[in-house]
Amino acid sequence: MEGTNQARRSLLKTITGGAFGGLLTQREAAAQAQAARAVRATPTPIIKDVSVIATAPAGLRLVVVKVTTDQDGLYGYGCGTFTQRADLVVPAVEKYLKPFLVGKPADRIDDTWQACYNSSYWRNGPVLNNAISGVDQALWDIKGRQAGMPVYQLLGGKCREAADCYGHASGNEISEVIESAKGYMARGFRHVRVQIGVPGMEGYGARGGSNVTVKALHKGPVYEPAPYIRRAMKMFEECRKQLGEEVELLHDVHERVTPIQGVQFTKDVEQFKLFFFEDPLSPEDIAYFRQIRQQCSTPIAMGELFNSPHEWNTLIGERLIDYIRIHVSQAGGLTPCRKIAAFGEIYGVRTAWHGPGDVSPIGHAANVALDLACYNFGVQEYSPFGETTQEVFKGCPVMKDGYLYANEAPGWGIEIDEKAAKKYPFGNERGGRGLLNGGWGEVRKRDGTVIKQ
Ligand SMILES: [Mg+2]
Repeated sequence: MEGTNQARRSLLKTITGGAFGGLLTQREAAAQAQAARAVRATPTPIIKDVSVIATAPAGLRLVVVKVTTDQDGLYGYGCGTFTQRADLVVPAVEKYLKPFLVGKPADRIDDTWQACYNSSYWRNGPVLNNAISGVDQALWDIKGRQAGMPVYQLLGGKCREAADCYGHASGNEISEVIESAKGYMARGFRHVRVQIGVPGMEGYGARGGSNVTVKALHKGPVYEPAPYIRRAMKMFEECRKQLGEEVELLHDVHERVTPIQGVQFTKDVEQFKLFFFEDPLSPEDIAYFRQIRQQCSTPIAMGELFNSPHEWNTLIGERLIDYIRIHVSQAGGLTPCRKIAAFGEIYGVRTAWHGPGDVSPIGHAANVALDLACYNFGVQEYSPFGETTQEVFKGCPVMKDGYLYANEAPGWGIEIDEKAAKKYPFGNERGGRGLLNGGWGEVRKRDGTVIKQ
């Protein structure tokens, strides 16, 4: 193989050298351009370096892996963002994957994924999966740049023009949620997630934010599932009255209720015809999905916390959910996720890849590539790219009328300004997560019991 590579390198050298000579006829130049096109994916690029860009331009810790090859200017980026334990992904890449990968070919993506995944023997944890995702997505970026194509083209091309997205509407009062939802609808969104705060309590997606205090046996944030369920039911009723039937409404329970409450709640919201109802159960309680399915037809979305493939196997194979919500980097990158998407297609399960602010723009670009190329796309979660994020990541996917469009440039179509990235180091996060070192902290019931978040 090395002999072939050398021959290709020398052909490239001849072509390049000739072009710079400036003495070509038009016909010769055309012939050389044709030859250059024919060999542009060769010779095989070899991994020269694997580095990490750790940056928090919008106050959330983003980890991006950069894989550099031995070919001038040929490199790629991959998302390995695990915001809550971001510092741990950095040494997983630098101390383990880099020495494992340097010197290996950059064009064997699935093979590299399998080798990385199995190299630790104890595999399939969130830190290692995110580290592998960083490498995996960077290799897809490299292949796209080699081919001169966006990654969705390498996956077979577009099944649709753009990814239909949902935005996050929330508020302390129902009227605020409705105003927020109307704002999205005015911008062209057809799908809106609605979340409501509960007075005096720490909710998911919206805080209580009132003068009401809940008597508790501790001083920290309080949460009780029953008042949240009652308030959410009122919110759905008002949303349907005031927003109408046309808009698709979504909601995230965030696994904050007991399993049997999850069954009841999912049954009770059936009347509101939601687009999907997310995480009514936690990954530890997935056996209850069978009960939900037997009792109602509320569409279920699940999976952003999934780690082991066995968790999605059962839910897809038994047709117990409708939308797969996997965080692509947490699952190990584009390579495993395109397989999960294909698995879902056979069983009628659609995709809704996790897309909050704690996915880097590279990760969002990977989501969009899957959204465009997979027939069983459902919907895409959307988070806006702010000014500081776009200062670091040039070429983010573009939002228009509630649709997210891929950058049509090769690979992910994104370039990172590494100097700008350094202006936003870890440790300067805004708000609560900064104080909690990137974590989520504790929320407890009135009696002091810690809840799942
Ligand atoms: Mg969620």
